[in-house]
Amino acid sequence: MLRLPAFTYLEPKTLQQALKMKRAAGPDGMYVAGGTDLYPNMKRRHQEPKTVISLARIRALQRVRGGTGGAGMTLGAGITLTTVHTHRRIARRYRALAHAAELVSTPLLRNMGTLGGNLCLDTRCNYYNQTYEWRKAIDFCMKKDGAICWVAPSSPRCWAVNSSDTAPVAVALDARLALVGPAGERVVPAARFYHNDGINYLTKHADEILTEVQLPPADGWDATYWKLRRRGSFDFPVLGVAVWIRWDGATVGAARIVLGAVASLPQPVPEAAQAIIGSRLEDDAVAAAADAAFRPSKPMDNTDFGLAWRKEMTRQYVRRALEELRARRR
Ligand SMILES: Cc1cc2nc3c(=O)[nH]c(=O)nc-3n(C[C@H](O)[C@H](O)[C@H](O)COP(=O)(O)OP(=O)(O)OC[C@H]3O[C@@H](n4cnc5c(N)ncnc54)[C@H](O)[C@@H]3O)c2cc1C
Repeated sequence: MLRLPAFTYLEPKTLQQALKMKRAAGPDGMYVAGGTDLYPNMKRRHQEPKTVISLARIRALQRVRGGTGGAGMTLGAGITLTTVHTHRRIARRYRALAHAAELVSTPLLRNMGTLGGNLCLDTRCNYYNQTYEWRKAIDFCMKKDGAICWVAPSSPRCWAVNSSDTAPVAVALDARLALVGPAGERVVPAARFYHNDGINYLTKHADEILTEVQLPPADGWDATYWKLRRRGSFDFPVLGVAVWIRWDGATVGAARIVLGAVASLPQPVPEAAQAIIGSRLEDDAVAAAADAAFRPSKPMDNTDFGLAWRKEMTRQYVRRALEELRARRR
């Protein structure tokens, strides 16, 4: 059985207390929300904080606001994934996000896991998500304790994968993420929250707390999320496809297509979105978008399934996602 190492556990009640505690703990401190990612990682010695600062008792992170009339919604980063997919206003107006949350792992983990934790999820790799002894046997890898990337041994960077289900949807919806840190508050578009680097995968400073997810008004657009995984009841995505479309009468006026689990960040594919703008999502436009998404989709050999098949599934899942949106429009 894997055991947690010893650590100091703190429970601030306010954001200011949490920031103060983090400052005092320095680089040895980490925030935890639901703990469904951090604690397994600590057991495998991926992360080794001496001080763990829980965000669970901070009421400011639990709020859900807006969603009436023409307003957008603001979701506290500390709400659970179960809340995201069962909350009536969220589910009615942001069904792609609610659906993505519902597809994360199992009910028990969704009851504990939070939206903020899902957006900040550590990147994953077959050579990293292993026990300490397993990793030691291969002399570790550059993401933790080692020097080499076993997926691409000549690579100067780490190729661990962003496997969050809600992150591609947040980018596709153009959600804004509110952060609070020692230097004050700031709001960033979800697309700018991520780096294409398996180690430094967030643009957020380690001391900053993600406080809110601000969703744009649900006015005349539609979106969906498709997830590929081995076991439908449980697994991380090996491919995620988030599509957002604004209809302009019978044709597509604007679109965003974002791939999950094929890079170290949720990967927008603007060339695929461009292929459907001005179309009625006829079969040829859908096929052109699917082809355009297929080309830049470059899964690495570091998660479940063969990478050639996962790449081909990009084409299939983009097509199916667009067909779903077309069917809903008719
Ligand atoms: C068996 C299993 C299956 C899983 N399957 C999936 C899956 O299919 N899809 C998926 O997306 N995930 C999956 N997960 C991962 C995880 O359960 C979810 O991503 C969950 O949403 C993480 O949220 P959390 O609150 O538990 O995060 P935590 O573990 O508490 O934190 C995760 C990271 O985010 C940071 N963090 C958390 N909240 C904040 C905040 N507000 N501000 C700043 N930093 C913060 C923490 O410091 C930590 O680095 C799975 C996990 C397990 C164990």
